[in-house]
Amino acid sequence: MANNILVTRSSMPSFEEYCEEIKELWDSHWLTNMGAKHKQLQSDLEKFLGVPNVVLYTNGHLALENVLAAMNLPRNGEVITTPFTFASTTHAIVRNNLKPVFCDIRKDDYTIDVSKIESLITDRTCAIVPVHVYGNLCDVNEIQRIANKYGLKVIYDAAHAFGVKYNGVSTACFGDAAMFSFHATKVFNTIEGGAVCFSDNTLVQKLNDMKNFGIRGPEIVEFVGGNAKMNEFQAAMGICNLRHLDEEIAKRKAAVERYRERLSGISGIKLCGDQAGVEPNYAYMPVVFDELEFGASRNEVFNALAENGIGARKYFYPLTNTFDCFHGAYDVNETPIALHISKRVLTLPLYADLSIETVDKICDIVLSCKRAAD
Ligand SMILES: *Cc1c(COP(=O)(O)O)cnc(C)c1O
Repeated sequence: MANNILVTRSSMPSFEEYCEEIKELWDSHWLTNMGAKHKQLQSDLEKFLGVPNVVLYTNGHLALENVLAAMNLPRNGEVITTPFTFASTTHAIVRNNLKPVFCDIRKDDYTIDVSKIESLITDRTCAIVPVHVYGNLCDVNEIQRIANKYGLKVIYDAAHAFGVKYNGVSTACFGDAAMFSFHATKVFNTIEGGAVCFSDNTLVQKLNDMKNFGIRGPEIVEFVGGNAKMNEFQAAMGICNLRHLDEEIAKRKAAVERYRERLSGISGIKLCGDQAGVEPNYAYMPVVFDELEFGASRNEVFNALAENGIGARKYFYPLTNTFDCFHGAYDVNETPIALHISKRVLTLPLYADLSIETVDKICDIVLSCKRAAD
């Protein structure tokens, strides 16, 4: 089909800007293993995010797996998290021999329902892994209060929340650590990539060794680590993209505002609003369809868009606690709001270069699905 619109489109610097950035690599022939670009991106990010330590990774998932491993959590310890997320969050917990305990989400912003966390805490609970879903900020203050009361670690999956601030403080600064994904589809990308951000200086060496086979020095291998290093071409892409982040977010904002103009106030359609004190990054455009009021289901809207060459995404559907790989280990009825939203949500196309005309075309198709209530 001609002129297909995909749900996302990666932000890229100009070809010339990227070539200029990678030119030095042909002088140094240093392509990976914490080279000059890696060092520069790390310090650019520490400044930009206002966080003492940033460790870079080849992707966000390994960043999350590594930081969980670095927390020395007990084998089979319970980790409170949500199922309304990407596979990565739950998989990182399970792959660390930890047990996910699923908490429900809030109806308004789809982040962890903090009022339900304490009832899930047992003597085996060791950590909370909340997700800033769609860039919506979790209740970071209440989560920290609970964590302090019970002595739990807090590791944020902030994959969606790069550039988001709360009362002027970056999402990199909350909890014991925050993980960002710099995957091609995220607001800020390094092609593939990720980072862990934290203030505890004693973690720096450990995380750096862990992403490089546990190698401490040329003749010292301290522990059994993996390989999760970011390479120089990834870092160079990040250095370029970071220069343009403000414009990128401003362009996304314009598209989101148009979506809101066209879709808010329509019965059967629910949009996310702005959160008090939060500077958003406009990462996604989630829309929740109530079939009874709107007259068409999420799946019907998805199909109508697809027929017109427009790719929306059922994100997040299915919930991670229903994945085949878990063979029914979890009870989805324990997270009824997450289940309700996952059956009704659609994220509409959103990226910096999405034109207002295209947003209008998408909204026309969405609204054409609406049937009068009988
Ligand atoms: C993208 C994403 C990740 C994983 O990031 P990768 O860089 O693709 O490995 C983790 N959690 C969430 C919520 C994500 O959206």
